[in-house]
Amino acid sequence: MAEPLMVVESLSKHYPVSEGQYGGRTVGYVKAVDGVSFTIEKGRTLALVGESGCGKTTTARLVLRLRTPTGGTVKLEERDVHQLSGADLKWFRTSVQAVFQDPWASLSPRMRVRDIVAEPLVANHRVSKDEVRERVGVTLEKVGMQRWQGDLYPHEFSGGQRQRVALASALITEPRLLVLDEPVSALDVSVQAQVMNLLKDLQAELGTAFLLISHDLATVRYVADHVAVMYMGSIVESGSVDQIFETPRHPYTRGLFDAALPTHPRNRTEKLEIKGEMPSPLNPPTGCRFRTRCPQVMSICETVPETIEVAQGHRVACHLFTPEWS
Ligand code: SF4
Repeated sequence: MAEPLMVVESLSKHYPVSEGQYGGRTVGYVKAVDGVSFTIEKGRTLALVGESGCGKTTTARLVLRLRTPTGGTVKLEERDVHQLSGADLKWFRTSVQAVFQDPWASLSPRMRVRDIVAEPLVANHRVSKDEVRERVGVTLEKVGMQRWQGDLYPHEFSGGQRQRVALASALITEPRLLVLDEPVSALDVSVQAQVMNLLKDLQAELGTAFLLISHDLATVRYVADHVAVMYMGSIVESGSVDQIFETPRHPYTRGLFDAALPTHPRNRTEKLEIKGEMPSPLNPPTGCRFRTRCPQVMSICETVPETIEVAQGHRVACHLFTPEWS
């Protein structure tokens, strides 16, 4: 196992739900993220996958310090990121950057590309104008652009090129971790592969770790080293990309993959179909949260399953794998 860079333990974000439209007595909590734990290794990619509303984007925002957790910790190189201040906070802002889904929304239309790319560097470091110009030029070249393109505005680029600008801006501080929230889903299919190849090349060159948030399993398979599958705020299965794609064990993972990926005729087994919609997070099922949709539900599923290691590094939270029920 490579060295850990970020360790997330029992991370939770519970939102209070109040009575009435204008607030009042708290009548319950929406558990957007509930006891999530994972490790991101140096220079490697962990993908968080699951249906929309499963908690993966909230998890990314907690990791980025854009939300405050209600429980648990996020540690970057052993420092609790939600306790940082002063110089340590600057260190965090340099070390962790993000690229979001929509390259339109994340780039200011009134700024030239060179100023957009320079912004994280100027905000967090004392650097001369010459050094800023040089670093912007080098970073634009790294993402496959020309230096002179720094003089242009975002609207003068295609969607794929705008995502390259967003990447250059995220990479200029040479971060240890890049959070990629659906980085190619707003792009044309023909451009998606280019951007994913670019991400892989940059990771090999710079040794940056990625936390990839994606509902696109083909992208995940291509880019990730490790995968964690989320359902209603919790991780239900995690492991290496081969373990999750070749031998998915949790009924939710199997259903998700059966619906999204073609099966090779040699590997054809009975398909697992996920029934119905995700329940309301205001009123989640007791016990295993997947039990209202699970094709293999049993009476024991009214209790919360423990997470079991079924192979080295491959963990599943399902009663089908707890020794007394399997
Ligand atoms: Fe299905 Fe039960 Fe496993 Fe939940 S614990 S996934 S309901 S078999």
